[in-house]
Amino acid sequence: MATSSSTPAPTAHALPSYLQADHLGPWGIFLQQVDRVEPYLGNLARWVETLKRPKRILVVDVPIHLDDGRIAHFEGYRVQHNTSRGPGKGGVRFHQDVTLSEVMALSAWMSIKNAAVNVPYGGAKGGIRVDPKTLSRGELERMTRRYTSEIGIIIGPTKDIPAPDVNTNEQIMAWMMDTYSMNQGSTATGVVTGKPVDLGGSLGRREATGRGVFTVGVEAAKRIGLDVANAAVAVQGFGNVGGIAGKLFAEAGARVVAVQDHGGAIYREAGLDVPSLLKHVADKGTVAGFEHAEVMDADKFWDVPCDIMIPAALEQQITKANAHRIQARMVIEGANGPTTPEADDILHERNVLVLPDVIANAGGVTVSYFEWVQDFSSFFWDEDEINKRLVRVMQQAFAGVWQVAEQHKVSLRTATFIVACERILHTRELRGLYP
Ligand code: GLU
Repeated sequence: MATSSSTPAPTAHALPSYLQADHLGPWGIFLQQVDRVEPYLGNLARWVETLKRPKRILVVDVPIHLDDGRIAHFEGYRVQHNTSRGPGKGGVRFHQDVTLSEVMALSAWMSIKNAAVNVPYGGAKGGIRVDPKTLSRGELERMTRRYTSEIGIIIGPTKDIPAPDVNTNEQIMAWMMDTYSMNQGSTATGVVTGKPVDLGGSLGRREATGRGVFTVGVEAAKRIGLDVANAAVAVQGFGNVGGIAGKLFAEAGARVVAVQDHGGAIYREAGLDVPSLLKHVADKGTVAGFEHAEVMDADKFWDVPCDIMIPAALEQQITKANAHRIQARMVIEGANGPTTPEADDILHERNVLVLPDVIANAGGVTVSYFEWVQDFSSFFWDEDEINKRLVRVMQQAFAGVWQVAEQHKVSLRTATFIVACERILHTRELRGLYP
């Protein structure tokens, strides 16, 4: 007897073992976020399981010779969460705490982010479970090259395009591009983004994530009547994202009053001298030891009187333990996944506006898209053009998300998920199932 299409398919509610809730952690957070958006998806909700299962997960062993002659093995991952809208796209993270759950969640957030700003990509992410500070430059290069070679079977300029993330940079991208090209037998600049400018990279890429954070911050501030020129800003993480965002806010007249990073926390009510602090961080690798500021207990960072707080470090920093202490009117998520769902609810109840990662830090991948387009056409744009286009993309995307949030009376995170999931699942439906 034929089964009706309304009968649940046998797998509809039974997730594969590695995707189930007892493997919570970052992936569990993503699943909760998808559950929140499902009621708003209308007929597209029948495709929602697509988002709860990464399309492809690759786990690789990365063996290298250490300088002292021993052989070390590292765990490497590349996860392609969704490729309905285009090739996989997302960074590669080198960190001692990288897990499969984390890389899966980060790949899924890339799917949402890429759809939210409407760049023609799916979502992917990679990582190696390693503390790169323990490696020599030669070891780092060998590990990067072996990892690239191992994931070479699924990446490529039209398949999946890695980029920098935590602890990876332009040099790592240069080695990845070279390794992939050597294996292919021809130079393929478009296989990674975030490359050095002399090697097919794009002007403005390094600053793009911070510029995007600033851009959406200004847009949101206008809408809630917050004067950026008189705002006090607290930043967690002063690298590529937090450092640039802090610099742009300071240039707009705001006071960056507190910065916390892995080395400690500093405070100055009148505002820190951001250009000097950036120089200090470039030399010392941390804000700790910066002379022209008061030293603050790292945990006190969450109590700092400020208008804008920018978590721009790692995941799960704003939790139910500190969310009630935050004094800011607005939190801009420069990092991926810095706020847990419980903390999100606490901030919402306390009327603290959260600009979620999936829109707030999308400036990086937006300029990655520009870099990829420039590589394909071998025609490079000037920085002014890139920044103008970036600002336009971010403003348009943010306006769309804001409107959906008002329409459905939901948080900006749920609104961004609504916009993105509709785009992804609409494409999924149009493409249909193969075979
Ligand atoms: N790693 C960055 C992110 O999380 C950039 C990804 C990219 O440019 O592909 O958005």
